[in-house]
Order: sequence, then structure tokens, then C-alpha cells
Amino acid sequence: MLNVVIFGAPGSGKGTQSELIIKKYGLFHISTGDVLRAEIKNGTELGNTAKGFIEKGQLVPDQLIIDMLANVLDSNPATKDGVIFDGFPRTIPQAEALNEMLKERGTQVSIVVGLDVEESELIDRLLKRGQISGRSDDNYETIKSRLDVYNNQTSPLKAFYIKEGKYADIQGMGTVEEIFARIEKAIDAVK
Ligand code: AMP
Repeated sequence: MLNVVIFGAPGSGKGTQSELIIKKYGLFHISTGDVLRAEIKNGTELGNTAKGFIEKGQLVPDQLIIDMLANVLDSNPATKDGVIFDGFPRTIPQAEALNEMLKERGTQVSIVVGLDVEESELIDRLLKRGQISGRSDDNYETIKSRLDVYNNQTSPLKAFYIKEGKYADIQGMGTVEEIFARIEKAIDAVK
């Protein structure tokens, strides 16, 4: 079974490339950002708590995210056939919890697809997306804090997964198709 983590800074193309990966490999998509935005839209307790963190560009506390993810895995039987994790894990405790959760379910992370994009390009892409996405966190100030959070809290995961022998470093600049071709090569090598 194939479980893919798609990893990279905000604006690195995780969502775009996830769609292509799903189309080719038929995985169940879990974007923690999308799940949180749905919770906010539905006015749930989790949504109300998450909103403040998201609008400041900060991470939602680990335990809330880990419980939310366990709930998505348990309530969607299709996740047993393989998942693409998009926007999760974002901290070392989340990565450790993911290993544990998958182990309990008799499976593991197959590969971490890490998209490498220059910071100036990330800011350009996010500002452009902000003009059409309507996302409250795609404005210059929040983008800056999301990039700081990525550099401080999330980027250490690269070393974590290199140590586990799971990290595929993907050059994330170029056309969508060029980047996907690099990803396909990396996934096909572990399939
Ligand atoms: P994204 O759509 O992945 O860019 O996520 C948007 C926002 O949701 C982030 O800036 C965080 O505030 C929150 N978020 C999404 N995924 C996580 C996660 N795995 N851990 C903590 N916060 C998250």
C-alpha cells in the first residue's frame, strides 16, 4: 500500500501536485488545511478554536490536529487503500504520531515528497493565489508568519525523514508537468 506525505513550504505546490498524484495513483486525499477550513465553515468547536491560529499564520496545537487526523482515518475506510497526507505532519510530534497511527493500522509512510521552492517564488505564488482563493491567510503579513513557522517548526522534518530513509528531494520550480514528472519518478521507485 502506498502512503505519500507531500511536504513543502506554503505555496510550494502541495495542493496542485496532490491532485495529479491522486489522479495517477488513486490515493485518498487528506489535507489538514482543507479539513480545518471545513470545520470553520461548519462552525464547530474545533473550527472556532482553529480560526484564531490560522488567521495569525500559526500552527493549530498538535493534539487537536492529531485527534482530527485519527478521526478522518477511522471514519473513511478508503484510507486503508493508501493516503496522500497534504499539510501534515508539520511538527516532529505530529510526524511521530503519524508513524504510531499508521503502525497501529498495519501500515507506514512509503515516501515523503519534499517540494523545494525559492522563498521569493513562494511569496509571489501565495500573493497571486490570494487574489482568487478568498483565503483569509493569503495576505502579505500572514504569508510572512506562515513562512517563519515553516522555517522554524516544519522544516526540521526534512532531517527526520532523511534519517528514516523516506525523503525524496524534489526540485519544485518549473512547470506543473515538469515537477510532476520528477515526483512520478520518485514514487515509482518505492512502489
Ligand atoms: P494549509 O492549507 O495546509 O496551508 O493550512 C492552513 C493553515 O491551517 C496553517 O497555516 C495552519 O494554521 C493550519 N494547519 C493546517 N495543517 C496543520 C497542521 N498539520 N498542524 C497545525 N496547523 C495546521
